[in-house]
Amino acid sequence: MTQPADRTDRWLVVGAGPSGLSVSLALQQAGVAFDGIEAGSTVGGMWNMDNPGSGMYESAHFISSAARSGWADLPMPDHYPTYPRWWEIRDYIHAWAAHHGLGRHYTFDTRVEQAVPVETGEGERWDVTLATSEVRRYRGLVACPGFQRVPNVPTYPGTFSGEARHSQTYKSADEFVGRRAMVVGAGNSAVDIAVDAAIAADRAVISTRRAYWFFPKLIGGIPLDCFAINSVSSQERLRRFLEIHVGDVGRVGFGTPDHQPLAHHPILNDQILHHLSHGDLLSRPEIERFDGNTVHFADGTSEDIDLIIWATGYLDRVPFVNAEHCRISSRDADNDLFIWMFHRRHPQMMVLGPANLAAGGYWALAASADLIANHIRDQQHDPSRWERMRAIIGGPEPDLSGGYSYYQKPGHLNYVNAAALDRYCEQLAGSLGYEPLAHPGDFKAPEQIDIDGWLDNPRPLSMPSHGSLAPIPYQPRDLIDG
Ligand SMILES: Cc1cc2nc3c(=O)[nH]c(=O)nc-3n(C[C@H](O)[C@H](O)[C@H](O)COP(=O)(O)OP(=O)(O)OC[C@H]3O[C@@H](n4cnc5c(N)ncnc54)[C@H](O)[C@@H]3O)c2cc1C
Repeated sequence: MTQPADRTDRWLVVGAGPSGLSVSLALQQAGVAFDGIEAGSTVGGMWNMDNPGSGMYESAHFISSAARSGWADLPMPDHYPTYPRWWEIRDYIHAWAAHHGLGRHYTFDTRVEQAVPVETGEGERWDVTLATSEVRRYRGLVACPGFQRVPNVPTYPGTFSGEARHSQTYKSADEFVGRRAMVVGAGNSAVDIAVDAAIAADRAVISTRRAYWFFPKLIGGIPLDCFAINSVSSQERLRRFLEIHVGDVGRVGFGTPDHQPLAHHPILNDQILHHLSHGDLLSRPEIERFDGNTVHFADGTSEDIDLIIWATGYLDRVPFVNAEHCRISSRDADNDLFIWMFHRRHPQMMVLGPANLAAGGYWALAASADLIANHIRDQQHDPSRWERMRAIIGGPEPDLSGGYSYYQKPGHLNYVNAAALDRYCEQLAGSLGYEPLAHPGDFKAPEQIDIDGWLDNPRPLSMPSHGSLAPIPYQPRDLIDG
């Protein structure tokens, strides 16, 4: 067995996507020594389409709005569209990382193959094996590998003789030209890809297990994430709004949703119902079985298909840590992570990324990263506060539902309310006396429009204040090039 290289004077951050970069900035500000390791050739995570395992595709756009989604210290530029294109997000992440000089912490083009906890005379440490076969021993591990990385592919009886692959490999509508295509699933990527198929394929089908609410990307001209929808009664009002303004999705082949709007991650797409109602895309229920190129569905119908894209999501795993050492799952309530970040059993392991938030926002990642970095620093500089935090980590999980009624079904258990998580992080940091690091201490959250008031009394709307995310004039490219 190779003797590990001793790196126990420092922590390891795996991943240079938005989560890993947020942790890196917080550790840098805290003065904690760390190395970063990234499998891809640069910072940016899945937004670099050529990053190995990136599920990005040409028609992808941000699903949360530019005005509310950037890091607080360098918001997205004013000229960005409401819902930026994937390459604008990539450029923005590159610019933010360059602004803080984060790339210098990382070794790129290097994959972590395995990480295991080891007990030493000085407490727990982590042995990390790289793809180069090098083994290093670190003081601890912050895993930020992205949680849209390990494909989830369901199985059905029979054999399909066409081409079938996961949406992770899907890049552009050209893949559909001249083919009879079927997209399975109805998440945000699934409906984007189904829209591409509707435009480019000879015949396009979407197969779903159940009916979903489809949200317009703008309500009264305002992005959905600018509304405060924080209660069960808001959900009920929203249901009535969608029933009136979007209408019964049963008319285009879906049934009736078995859940309230926002009971799980919202699907924001204006084009899917357009293509379904124009006949460019056909809705089918769940697959029953395969027979050569023929797909049989649960309602007794069938379709001849050349290409299946499984847009059926991802498994919540840290791929390089064995499940015996870290259980993370949106499918099983038995998780090892306190607030989806702090390992309850392994004090030297933390994770950023698995919490699924309705509202995006890299500022929220930075606020979470601040908790992680403060805690890590305390281990050597304030052991009694480290112990107080360990006691909180070992205690009950706080309610992060924010008053919503959530879908308590496998695949959705990591869904938390962004505002509730934000409030909890702020309270926790305040009660422990943590220092702001990656996230400005004087941050003022963007205002939201009270949806209950607006739905009861609809009127023309203007964009609410961006809080501390007020756009500033700069070009991301200037920062990269400069
Ligand atoms: C179409 C689409 C739209 C989206 N829209 C939004 C949105 O509007 N708002 C929002 O907040 N989020 C959105 N997301 C979610 C997206 O996951 C986040 O924006 C963000 O990229 C998550 O950052 P991350 O760092 O956790 O993961 P990633 O971006 O996936 O980065 C993880 C990094 O870890 C590296 N890595 C993984 N394993 C290893 C290993 N073993 N060794 C070394 N390096 C490794 C990877 O190479 C990668 O660079 C969207 C996603 C998609 C696909």
